[in-house]
Amino acid sequence: MTSRKKCKAPRGTHDIFGMKAFGMSLMELKAKEIFRRFGFEEIRTPIFEESCLFMRSIGQSSDIVEKEMYIFEDRKGRKLALRPEGTAALVRALIEHKLDISNPSGKFFYSGEMFRYERPQFGRYRQFYQIGAEFFGNSSPAADVEIIVLAQDLLASLGVTEVKLHINSLGCQNCRPTFKYALTKYFNSKQDLCKDCLRRLEKNPLRLLDCKIDSDKFIKIPQLLKFLCKDCEDNFNTVQSLLKRIGKNYKIDGRLVRGLDYYTRTVFEIHSNAIGSRNVLAAGGRYDSLVKELGGQDTPAVGFALGSERVLFEAEKSGFFSIFKSPEKIFIAIADQTLFGEAFSFAIKRAREGLKNNTDFSIYGPINRKSLRFQLKFANKIKASKTIIFAKSEFENGKVLVKNMKTKTQAEILITDL
Ligand code: ATP
Ligand code: MG
Repeated sequence: MTSRKKCKAPRGTHDIFGMKAFGMSLMELKAKEIFRRFGFEEIRTPIFEESCLFMRSIGQSSDIVEKEMYIFEDRKGRKLALRPEGTAALVRALIEHKLDISNPSGKFFYSGEMFRYERPQFGRYRQFYQIGAEFFGNSSPAADVEIIVLAQDLLASLGVTEVKLHINSLGCQNCRPTFKYALTKYFNSKQDLCKDCLRRLEKNPLRLLDCKIDSDKFIKIPQLLKFLCKDCEDNFNTVQSLLKRIGKNYKIDGRLVRGLDYYTRTVFEIHSNAIGSRNVLAAGGRYDSLVKELGGQDTPAVGFALGSERVLFEAEKSGFFSIFKSPEKIFIAIADQTLFGEAFSFAIKRAREGLKNNTDFSIYGPINRKSLRFQLKFANKIKASKTIIFAKSEFENGKVLVKNMKTKTQAEILITDL
């Protein structure tokens, strides 16, 4: 006997329906509008890639590569991974299709699902959506600021304005090693590091600053900003003066290191400031060596990604979606079975062409082989505001009955007037 056990959505995934599905679409629409104004072109990359792409770009010692990737082999034994983030694939596509030639502005955006094997909790899923942008070929701090503005404008377009911008500079290949050395020395002198941090200390001491367990309990940790070389310092100062110039508040956060290995210089996070929220909504930064490391030309780059579910939650909480009215629902009913064909073709025609004096509506019905009583009940169930009833004697005079479902009043109306 076959098992009747119900299948459920896999742990860490979630179905998006109702207001959430509407919000998700609206968010993508808003994003496209804003990206367009800043000159960003859309790109869609596959959901899976060769797993080595992420190992090489995100970094062996990152949380993602160490423990969060969905890796599998296909039938020919190819090692593939469900994408955990968008940047690596975009860089791969840039190199593969020489996109810098077809789109010399170097501006691209994407949206889609990402996969990370994380412990599911509020705002953290195993399949989640991100919207992000990458700006290639521009090493100016102005590009960093443009990306930050873009991310914040996108949040604001969804009513998410209670946010705080955190920035930091991770330095470059010249100044970061000295800082790493100082950090290793500092943490080596500490006794009670967690298991993860002991491992991180060997591979990438910067990660210790990000540790949820350890990072808060130590004081006088060496500050990266004090180790920046002259170029990185000037660069970070320009980022700040440009942010001030356009009236953006920010907080310098010396512990902001980001989870991926490829960042250089400016990194940032946008935190929700709303009561009861402690989530990072969007994050990004500069990654000037990644394109070359993946086999492309030496190309500076900066980008960001936002977590759609987290942003959607904030948008909903701020009441943003309440300004959108759902369309008026109109139900088509038949009082006589012989009129089903007439009513059905009317419903299809009107759903396609619209009704006079009403452009925002949805059409439901008619239902075949059901009593009028049943159909009216159904109309109430779906919260139709009006039911258009096809009845024999009225129809013979070119009319239908239009019933107002709230007031229960009914009027005869010429079909040609609808
Ligand atoms: P966190 O520190 O919360 O794990 P992260 O540094 O791993 O975040 P990024 O890789 O920078 O996150 O991704 C950008 C954004 O994507 C995050 O700011 C967050 O909004 C969202 N995000 C990341 N991981 C998840 C997840 N597992 N579920 C839902 N959203 C996520
Ligand atoms: Mg993470």
